Amino acid sequence: MKYSEEEFARLKEMRDRLVSACKFCGGSGVDRRNEEDCRCMVAFDWLRELTHANIPREYWALSLEEIETDAAAKRLVATYIENMRNALDQGLGMVLLGPLGVGKTSLMCAVGKEALLRGVPAYYTTTQALLDSLKPGADEEHGAAARAKAARVVLLDELDKVYLKAGSDWARGRIEELLRGGIPHHTAFLIGTNLEEEGIAESFGASVASLVRGHLKMVNLSGADRRDGMQRDWLARLKTGGSLARLARNKVIAADARRFQLWGKR
Ligand SMILES: [Zn+2]
Repeated sequence: MKYSEEEFARLKEMRDRLVSACKFCGGSGVDRRNEEDCRCMVAFDWLRELTHANIPREYWALSLEEIETDAAAKRLVATYIENMRNALDQGLGMVLLGPLGVGKTSLMCAVGKEALLRGVPAYYTTTQALLDSLKPGADEEHGAAARAKAARVVLLDELDKVYLKAGSDWARGRIEELLRGGIPHHTAFLIGTNLEEEGIAESFGASVASLVRGHLKMVNLSGADRRDGMQRDWLARLKTGGSLARLARNKVIAADARRFQLWGKR
């Protein structure tokens, strides 16, 4: 089965809340007014894709234009997205370097969403979740490692010192396996890390270090913590709620959902 039981339950609840409760189609997915696919179903299909790709919900409605981050890094990501086909053909990716809160995850998720919109399987995971999924007793079929292996755009976040320092041979070995298994086979990695540029490639064994240097562009993000905005908006978000129905009507999500629908019909 494509989904784990937990994901399946989450998706069923999402469908119940978005589609079953819809006044335009009464849960059928066909808009009674025009006999076309109801927008609730179009939105659900897209949100289901984002869920399967494990893109964190807080990034679903965030477009690249809206991301407040280092301007040069943002331009580079925009160029990367325009040339995604070439990037995939060659296994070209990026390492986004910078302290917490500068926009690394936002940029990674923007690339992931654009991949999904082009029908390219993408998967987001933190390094910790990836390693946890490789421990004995974990759900192998639906775990992060299996999903990352099946994806062509892998968003590997929080690759921090603890996993690459001397002595963490097991962790480093698993990360190396993922990179070695992916990059030569036209998988693009977008890595988010608070490590310094020198620390990244050097932390890996020689063959992986050369793979990383040869395929992943090191992009330094500068700037202050941009999450202060979240701190200010917390109360507004608490009061307005983040309901699925509201999310499905969000302009960015609705536009992406239509693009995704059109891609599916090609
Ligand atoms: Zn509907």
